[in-house]
Amino acid sequence: LAAFLIGMASFFSVVAGQLRPMPASGLPGDLFALGIASKIRTDCNSTASASSDFGRIMEAAPEAVLHPATPADIAALIRFSTSSPVPFPVSPRGQGHSVRGQSLAPGGVVVDMHMLGRGYHRINVSADYVDAGGEQLWVDVLRATLKHGLAPRAWTDYLQLTVGGTLSNAGIGGQAFRHGPQIANVHELDVVTGTGEMVTCSRDKRKDLFFAALGGLGQFGIITRARIALESAPKQVRWVRLAYSDVVAFTRDQELLISKHASEASFDYVEGQVQLNRTLSEGPKSTPFFSEADINTLADLASETGSGAIYFIEAAMYYDETTAPSVNQKLEMVLAQLSFVPRFVFTKDVTYFQFLNRVRVEETVLRSAGVWDVPHPWLNLFVPRSRILDFDTGVLKGILGGDNPVGLILMYPMNTAKWNSHMTAVTPPTGEDVFYTVGLLRSALSADDLERLQRENQSMLAFCDKEGIECKQYLPHYTSQDGWRRHFGAKWSNISQLKAKYDPHAIMSRGQRIFPLPS
Ligand code: FAD
Repeated sequence: LAAFLIGMASFFSVVAGQLRPMPASGLPGDLFALGIASKIRTDCNSTASASSDFGRIMEAAPEAVLHPATPADIAALIRFSTSSPVPFPVSPRGQGHSVRGQSLAPGGVVVDMHMLGRGYHRINVSADYVDAGGEQLWVDVLRATLKHGLAPRAWTDYLQLTVGGTLSNAGIGGQAFRHGPQIANVHELDVVTGTGEMVTCSRDKRKDLFFAALGGLGQFGIITRARIALESAPKQVRWVRLAYSDVVAFTRDQELLISKHASEASFDYVEGQVQLNRTLSEGPKSTPFFSEADINTLADLASETGSGAIYFIEAAMYYDETTAPSVNQKLEMVLAQLSFVPRFVFTKDVTYFQFLNRVRVEETVLRSAGVWDVPHPWLNLFVPRSRILDFDTGVLKGILGGDNPVGLILMYPMNTAKWNSHMTAVTPPTGEDVFYTVGLLRSALSADDLERLQRENQSMLAFCDKEGIECKQYLPHYTSQDGWRRHFGAKWSNISQLKAKYDPHAIMSRGQRIFPLPS
């Protein structure tokens, strides 16, 4: 299998990874007379590295890449663009971990945020918050805060993402049920707006920009600093997976675990995964979490169930030296409330850092099998709780036919009340207390695969439309403005006004393709 995957991956580095020849810079010549000229790169290597993203589906070269040393460099670039007869696009690029070209700037300038942190330290830890540059990786924020025995409360599963990149979406993970997404854990931002103004904003100061930028898909400006809430960091984690063959029991238990009614003893992190038949029988023989024997036992369980689907609650209980003696008892109390398949409990004890950084281990495995740098036609949906079982029947067991190619399916609930409706990020319009995130994080190992997976994504969205399942895309992607209007729903008019105020030339993050150029 590994040989096959490696063969297909190298095929893709030729087909999907091929880059077009770069044009000579079509930017106004005066740009190269500015004080920032020495930080602007137009060579093919620089523009090629900003021409695609993790998705490997979209490709478009910028005319140039800015390597800013300070936020003022970014402001100078934006002011130059907006004062040009034809303003050019400007897109910040964090790690380029988007999947649909959201950080690209065809015909314009990509701001390589990574360079902002070069040369001086942009993570400052205080007693109950950390100030982190927008370009900083979450893993570096974690390392810096842990030195003080502190850590942010809300995390994404993968930490090689930038602070500005995840705050422009929402930043979701297994702590969101308790603390909300990462955007709900920010006190203050520095933003360079689409007019080139450098603004510090918060709930009390310039709050329209603060709320706009959180989940704002880079539409209003570039986040150059975020003040993020901290808590005392736990030392150890009891990492647990519980297997279910019945989706009703799985969702009921997940909802119990995230509810106010969960007992005093409860998990600190709750997520969930779905494994369809083929992932267990044809997937890897072992994983960083499961041994070969575990996988065989789970495959037997899958073949006993009619649908062939196995669901896992993935959960974590934090502890330290003082609470370690009671962790077994606390776990038993929680497990006693749940209806997983008897005996299908898998546990591991790891440090807090190892737990939060766990996807890095998966990345290493996938890279060595050559299946990391392949196209990723991911689809992430927020599904109202009242329709999650319809989604399971119609999509997971219907459209996907219980068969999942290489990749992962995440499925876990969050509490709507932990999301601030003033922010640009959207949740399902049904207003229910709970909604699920379903992440279809699938990889394409051939051109046919890519086509098929994209077709399946369209069928899933059409199914939801037809069945009246009012889901919202997370990390959204639409090809028409009508799609975006529907996505933002009641927020659209306010978002359009904020866009006109903070980016009137519509130059920012045009890779999102939300707003057309003003006529
Ligand atoms: P980029 O892809 O570079 O940028 C994303 C968008 O934000 C672009 O439009 C860009 O122009 C804009 N942008 C970038 N920096 C800034 C800034 N400083 N200010 C304003 N706008 C900016 N997401 C989750 O929520 N939870 C997860 O658990 C999770 N896991 C992931 C695992 C993997 C392996 C990958 C590849 C992605 C995952 N994501 C997850 C998605 C991730 O949050 C997005 O890809 C996000 O865009 C962050 O990536 P980035 O820092 O590379 O940003």
